[in-house]
Amino acid sequence: MDNDEMKRLNFLLEIYVDVNVDKDFSVLSKKTDPFFIVNISGQLIYVNEVCEELLQCSRNDLVKMKLSNLFIPSMLNDTQTFFIDKQREQLLNFDSKISMRPGNIIDVNVTTFPILFNNEVVGSYVVLKDITLIKRERQLLSEKQAAAGQLAAGIAHEIRNPITAIKGFLQLLMGEYKGETTYFEIVESEINRVEMILKELMVLAKPTKIKYQELDLRLLLDKVLTLMESQTLLNDIEVIKNFHALEVMIVGDENQLKQVFINYIKNAIEAMPNGGKVIIEGICLNESAHIRIIDQGSGMPLETLKRINEPFFTTKEHGTGLGMLVSNEIIEEHRGKINIISNTEGTCIEVILPALLTTT
Ligand code: ADP
Ligand code: MG
Repeated sequence: MDNDEMKRLNFLLEIYVDVNVDKDFSVLSKKTDPFFIVNISGQLIYVNEVCEELLQCSRNDLVKMKLSNLFIPSMLNDTQTFFIDKQREQLLNFDSKISMRPGNIIDVNVTTFPILFNNEVVGSYVVLKDITLIKRERQLLSEKQAAAGQLAAGIAHEIRNPITAIKGFLQLLMGEYKGETTYFEIVESEINRVEMILKELMVLAKPTKIKYQELDLRLLLDKVLTLMESQTLLNDIEVIKNFHALEVMIVGDENQLKQVFINYIKNAIEAMPNGGKVIIEGICLNESAHIRIIDQGSGMPLETLKRINEPFFTTKEHGTGLGMLVSNEIIEEHRGKINIISNTEGTCIEVILPALLTTT
């Protein structure tokens, strides 16, 4: 893009902001979200009040600042590409770090979406979320979950003993009344069901041991897809595997990473109630493994994307609202990163994990 073109687009954005500033950018449903507007050259041209508070810097100082002065340099390469040159009407969500002054780093979750003027992308809204607080919430949540798990397991244990006794006497009775088995069979199968539920509850309390080891992501993804085969078949989902080029080893916990991909693929399936394609893509880029789970669902609106990592946030009737949060947590522990790209044609979840070495 040449200089004149950039100037023209920047001018259009200024007009857009002037026209819309009184409406308080009603496209943002909550005024309380800190946000700024950035132009094609990467310069901030509008900052709202809440954003001033978050960044502890006056609007006058912030406006005209470049993205490169705002985000910490090591994050910038990743970050910058998200604001500019992206397809229209696409929402993006990722975590980043802002540093206004040396030593003062704020962890933020960023959601961006393009500003269109006469059908041209002239800039981006950038909604920030301070996630230091959310991190604290997560800590609390995992403590709560642990407590609930212990309790459930304790109860399960208590119920299991009498159930075992009941089952034993039932079998004695069945031996005595050989002729009339139907009722006995019903009782027996129901008892078996109770036992199965109890077993699951007891798993809850077991602190799963985390074991880091060298992993081949291709094998891991294959195992995950095998696990999910019945679900994909049942939901009329075609899985397209495209990760043969993922020729890297990573270090991680197999079960935890499996859980991550199960969560994302489950969400992809649930996003397409009438069936469709799920593409699992894997490539090696810049000494990192990039795995993408792409669906053809109807995507997420801004309001959902902003809240996606909140505990218990769900838009589903029977959802738990924990899948995205737990996955995020696990990837963070693996020193990885998650980028979400969503529009009305579908969603792409990109997981980036540091690679160990190239297999030969
Ligand atoms: P749950 O699946 O139990 O609702 P998650 O934490 O896995 O909880 O997801 C939270 C919300 O994020 C979902 O309710 C849904 O609105 C949204 N979401 C996640 N993945 C997708 C996707 N692939 N397509 C559309 N929406 C999604
Ligand atoms: Mg889910």
